[in-house]
Amino acid sequence: MSLTQRIETPSVTYDQPLGLFIDGKFVKGVEGKTFETINPTNEKPIVAVHEAGPEDVDIAVKAARKAFEGVWAHTPPSARGHFLTKLADLFDEHTDILAAIESLDNGKAISMAKVDVQLASGCLRYYGGWADKIHGKTIDTDHESFNYTRHEPVGVCGQIIPWNFPILMWSWKIGPALATGNTVVLKTAEQTPLSALYAASLIQKAGIPAGVVNIISGFGKTAGAAIASHMDVDKVAFTGSTVVGRAILQAAAKSNLKKVTLELGGKSPNIVFNDANLEDAISWVNFGIFYNHGQCCCAGSRIYVQSGIYDKFVEAFRERTIQNVVGDPFHEKTFQGPQVSQLQFDRIMSYIESGKEAGAKVETGGARHGDEGYFIQPTIFSNVSPDMKIMQEEIFGPVCAISKFETEDEVIKAGNETAYGLAAAVHTTNLNTAIRVANSLKAGTVWVNNYNMLSYQVPFGGFKESGIGRELGKYALSNYTQVKSVRIRLGNALF
Ligand code: NAD
Repeated sequence: MSLTQRIETPSVTYDQPLGLFIDGKFVKGVEGKTFETINPTNEKPIVAVHEAGPEDVDIAVKAARKAFEGVWAHTPPSARGHFLTKLADLFDEHTDILAAIESLDNGKAISMAKVDVQLASGCLRYYGGWADKIHGKTIDTDHESFNYTRHEPVGVCGQIIPWNFPILMWSWKIGPALATGNTVVLKTAEQTPLSALYAASLIQKAGIPAGVVNIISGFGKTAGAAIASHMDVDKVAFTGSTVVGRAILQAAAKSNLKKVTLELGGKSPNIVFNDANLEDAISWVNFGIFYNHGQCCCAGSRIYVQSGIYDKFVEAFRERTIQNVVGDPFHEKTFQGPQVSQLQFDRIMSYIESGKEAGAKVETGGARHGDEGYFIQPTIFSNVSPDMKIMQEEIFGPVCAISKFETEDEVIKAGNETAYGLAAAVHTTNLNTAIRVANSLKAGTVWVNNYNMLSYQVPFGGFKESGIGRELGKYALSNYTQVKSVRIRLGNALF
């Protein structure tokens, strides 16, 4: 099988790289295996890509190690920054292609896919700006000495990303890693390998030295597990399910105690008080759950509405949701495309059935949309109780549950009653309520009068079982550096 294929999408025609991107070149896997990626809109294969196994992971790690000790160690910080800003410019130039690949491979609505590419290029440029601003401190002590700290790169970083934001997660991982002087072996999700491989061709165009970034397509149990347990990988950054997050921590513990950062799932509460601006709140609650077809780790899937506006809210939210345009991701007006895969489609449909069986009321949706592709109607459940599966587990689809509450204390308790702690939101016009509730919710991000506002300058990550560490902003830099203390004796003191 060849290493590129011309692909026609409804918006662009382009050359898709298919190989593993190792040591600056696209290559076939050692075992010669390939796997198909499926178009979720029509359930047909798009193309087959080369598959990495453990041996390919090892080759990629060796290339990353060589670059880390060699060319990248001798690349000045400002040059690292320049490479990242050059890459960001190339993302901007190739927005139409990258966005079309996301819509083809993931099913993402094209208008949202374009925003993802802009956010990705912004993230790369932002971290490009940090590259020559990484520094330690000088510290005075009671000893006659000169002490300083250095923030040194961790080394070879394994990065494992999911399918829900393929190109955005690529940038969240690669930006801070390269800015701080690390090298990378990144594995994409098996459902969505294509945009990352195209972005690898932009790495070549940007002139980033061979081996600094290695991108491999492959499966979790083989290639992913090989990264997590590799003795020469210094750190793993993972985004995905909590189950796999635990497996990665275990693999790190059993191998070389590599550093681990995790960005996992959520079951985030979205709280609307009586005094909220109703129209605004409905719009943000709708965006909070149905954006990206509900396939967001931070999706606002548990909606709590205060009793004074409950009936009005449910009716207006239902009306608003019915207007969401579900369909062909390549239509500019589409808001919700298909779910990513048959497996996700089946999982979500089984949650919908479990909600119905448990006695929850379907306010709208509750069924497949159309008869081809993995489309699901945006679904709102009411009449739910805290013990129902749809209230407890991450559904990762366009499905939410609304509950009624009376008091602030009651909703804070309910909001925190989950093992997750990724995000939450409060809608109110009372500043005191907003701040009190924001301070009381156990979540890594609390949005007030909005939802899903994500900016590369602001840290993102989870409390409790939603993760370890923070991505984005200055905070992410500490995940990719380790502190060295250098202590110099001054004067003639002897021990
Ligand atoms: P997953 O966690 O299995 O996959 C995410 C990534 O991890 C993929 O690249 C996958 O290949 C890799 N992986 C899988 N098993 C691995 C292993 N043993 N070792 C190393 N890497 C491994 O997620 P999924 O199966 O695609 O989705 C399942 C559920 O996970 C979803 O329904 C959703 O609840 C959740 N999810 C969360 C996020 C998020 O952003 N937090 C993203 C995707 C999925």
